Amino acid sequence: MKRLVIAGVTGSIGSQALEILHGHEEIEIVGVAAGSNGAGLLEAMAQTGASAGALNLQGDIDLDGFDIEVGDDAAARLIREVQPDLVLNAVVGFAGLAVTQAALESGADLALANKESLVAGGNLVMDLAARQGLAITPVDSEHAALAQLLSGVEANDVERLVLTASGGPFRGRTAEELASVTVSEALAHPTWNMGGKISIDSATLMNKGLELIEAHHLFAVPYDQLGVVVHPESLVHAVIELVDGMQLAHLGVADMRAPIAWAVDGGNRRRLDIPRLDLASAGSLTFEEPDIKAFPALAIAIEAGRAGGGAPAVLNAANEVAVEAFLSGGIPFTRIPEVVALTLDVLGSEVPESFEELTALDTSARSQARSFIEAAA
Ligand code: MG
Repeated sequence: MKRLVIAGVTGSIGSQALEILHGHEEIEIVGVAAGSNGAGLLEAMAQTGASAGALNLQGDIDLDGFDIEVGDDAAARLIREVQPDLVLNAVVGFAGLAVTQAALESGADLALANKESLVAGGNLVMDLAARQGLAITPVDSEHAALAQLLSGVEANDVERLVLTASGGPFRGRTAEELASVTVSEALAHPTWNMGGKISIDSATLMNKGLELIEAHHLFAVPYDQLGVVVHPESLVHAVIELVDGMQLAHLGVADMRAPIAWAVDGGNRRRLDIPRLDLASAGSLTFEEPDIKAFPALAIAIEAGRAGGGAPAVLNAANEVAVEAFLSGGIPFTRIPEVVALTLDVLGSEVPESFEELTALDTSARSQARSFIEAAA
């Protein structure tokens, strides 16, 4: 039996993981962690039989009779205590970095859905995994697709990796039209059913920028060999281009249960009861260049990725603050990339050399981003 901890168990990825893992004969869920949804956490513990739980915020629920860590970094403490074989990190945002670090330091392989830990902490995280001899298997659909495609070819035969982007709910709109879009329009993703933060990131195309940085670290590929193509049907998840001019594509319905199952099973396949792709009824697949004039976040993210050092961490922190401000009605949609760019101008050349310095830079970038938001309010 493989002993698994799921962090972020009450979110979109976490709940789909519970569905997939129900009745799994080789994986035992020994711990579950949530951010603030105490009732959801207790439900997940009851459903899985996990004896250990963690809640980052103390909710107004009765935790008596349950072995539950509460407070800051509760999920990381649970992992260090339980010492699982595998951690599914489905925490949203920079908070996921502490989970990634705790997993790798306690000797657990990672099924990684938290892209922010690689965006912000890429070099530190990849170095730690290598030192510990542990595997990081991506849950993100594009990266899971790339890993599957790459496993079938010689590394020297690959010229370029291409991630597809749905284009989000505002594909085709101009910058002027984007200035007045609402929160509920931005949350209405056309093809993927996801949590709030990632839905907004998909609408700005920041998500694809974060994913390029994630791919750069996961596959050790320079930015010149990474590309993005907009594909509104979300049926092709990634493409690799080979030295003989041929390309391999990964296709399937847009259903996160497939990459989650593949990643928690250590990169192995098993039969899943999910919808099958019927190419004839799909009819046509379309592709186009991303519009970086209307969606500058993608270009800003690539620039931060190329700059390296702490720039991607600053990008990520400022983006999280700006997305929260947009979701709470504090700033217009088009202000999100502006806040990120302004914050990068101030702090983008910092180079954190430890997890402590990285966390300090994240904190500074958040307060800098907030001051740009307040200055304009
Ligand atoms: Mg993705």
